[in-house]
Amino acid sequence: MTVKNSYPASWYAASATPLPEQPTLQGRIDADVCILGAGYTGLSAALELAEAGYRVVVLEAERIGWGASGRNGGQALVGFGCEQDKLETLVGVDDARKLFDLSREGMAWMHGRIAKHAIACDWRDGHASVPIKSRQERQLHAWQAHMAERYDYPMEWWDREQLRAQLASDRYLGAVYDPHSGHLHPMEYAFGLARAAMVAGVRIFERSRVTQLVRDKSPVMTTAQGKVRCNHAILAGNAWLRGVAPELESRIMPVGTYIGATVPLGEQRAHELIRNNMAVADVNWALDYFRLSRDHRLLFGGRASYSTLPPPNLRGTMARRMRRVFPQLGDVDIEYVWGGYVDISLNRAPHWGRLAPNIYFAQGFSGHGVAATGLAGKLIAEAVRGQAERFDLFSRIPHHSFPGGRAFRTPILVAAMAWYKLRDALW
Ligand SMILES: Cc1cc2nc3c(=O)[nH]c(=O)nc-3n(C[C@H](O)[C@H](O)[C@H](O)COP(=O)(O)OP(=O)(O)OC[C@H]3O[C@@H](n4cnc5c(N)ncnc54)[C@H](O)[C@@H]3O)c2cc1C
Repeated sequence: MTVKNSYPASWYAASATPLPEQPTLQGRIDADVCILGAGYTGLSAALELAEAGYRVVVLEAERIGWGASGRNGGQALVGFGCEQDKLETLVGVDDARKLFDLSREGMAWMHGRIAKHAIACDWRDGHASVPIKSRQERQLHAWQAHMAERYDYPMEWWDREQLRAQLASDRYLGAVYDPHSGHLHPMEYAFGLARAAMVAGVRIFERSRVTQLVRDKSPVMTTAQGKVRCNHAILAGNAWLRGVAPELESRIMPVGTYIGATVPLGEQRAHELIRNNMAVADVNWALDYFRLSRDHRLLFGGRASYSTLPPPNLRGTMARRMRRVFPQLGDVDIEYVWGGYVDISLNRAPHWGRLAPNIYFAQGFSGHGVAATGLAGKLIAEAVRGQAERFDLFSRIPHHSFPGGRAFRTPILVAAMAWYKLRDALW
């Protein structure tokens, strides 16, 4: 369902301070940089470049923050969609360490922007990764030790009782608690970046879908009613590109993930659920993730879908999953449910690089983009300004197309996911 302001109906769309509508592109204009997509990636790059004096245009097919940036779970985590040990096998230990340090810089960048532009997005410190099975408990222990030893990134191990003191659920065996990650209101953050970008001089055009990209010394992005000629083009369209750059689309799989928001629980009842107001995620393949909202709702995410159709009876499924974690919420209704696509890469590592020397892209955030997108925007801006070493580190991560091509990648992935879900259920 779409609400009046043309965002999908969600607690975010209902609670964010709205942005004024921006015009649709009409006619031909020139820019130093033209960016496809007004999500966190595009807006972060736009803001950085406008502040450096570039004339920047952003073309958005729908509305600012309409994609994943206005719909996500709001859990802002250091690192990337794959674990560091995966990056070590892909690029070696030294580069994996550099990439992790950059992800911490991305988190700092996000905090810096929230502070500088006074973005009222309700940041809260703290994130717990919670095991359900002993296998997962062992994995989390090993991960915590690895991150402390190799990456100087200490996180706390909480046993069952320590976790129970903060989280009113008996489902989990303990937690790895990361005090540096946390959560925020995703749409307020996207709108805050957009406001800051426009103040810095960025021109954003909404309802201006790019239908064609001419790859040239001066690239051109074409929409239904206009064209932008530029010196540098940036593709930040996530899972929605639809034909603009087929070689990018084959490297990611749009995977549907869904969130439910309960009715307000009242301050006391909400506080009793998550005393320290942290964000929580389990480590199943099709994971549950949850946190509280500023108006004391439980926001509960999960239920991945590998077809592009929304799952049937989503509200009922979300309620069932939520009550598996919090049986005490048996009397509580879910007021909103919504979903969106995450852009999963085959190895879940970020897929950032260039299609040509002056055409940049960042995708493959693999459900881990709230903090990493700011880093992507910052590093693309650095590269446009002539300092590409840090951005190019990401180009060294090898990526492959999904097997089966566009027609068969979904059924193949569905079969693979069924195996992982079965493994979560059995061991
Ligand atoms: C339900 C859900 C829950 C999630 N939870 C978390 C979480 O808790 N933590 C976390 O770290 N990450 C999470 N993510 C992932 C995170 O939201 C994304 O990685 C991040 O928002 C990606 O930002 P982006 O700017 O790259 O893409 P988007 O925000 O999707 O923006 C892309 C924009 O490009 C526009 N666009 C696409 N094609 C065109 C075109 N041809 N012309 C013009 N415009 C175009 C789209 O309309 C869209 O607005 C979640 C994602 C979803 C969907």
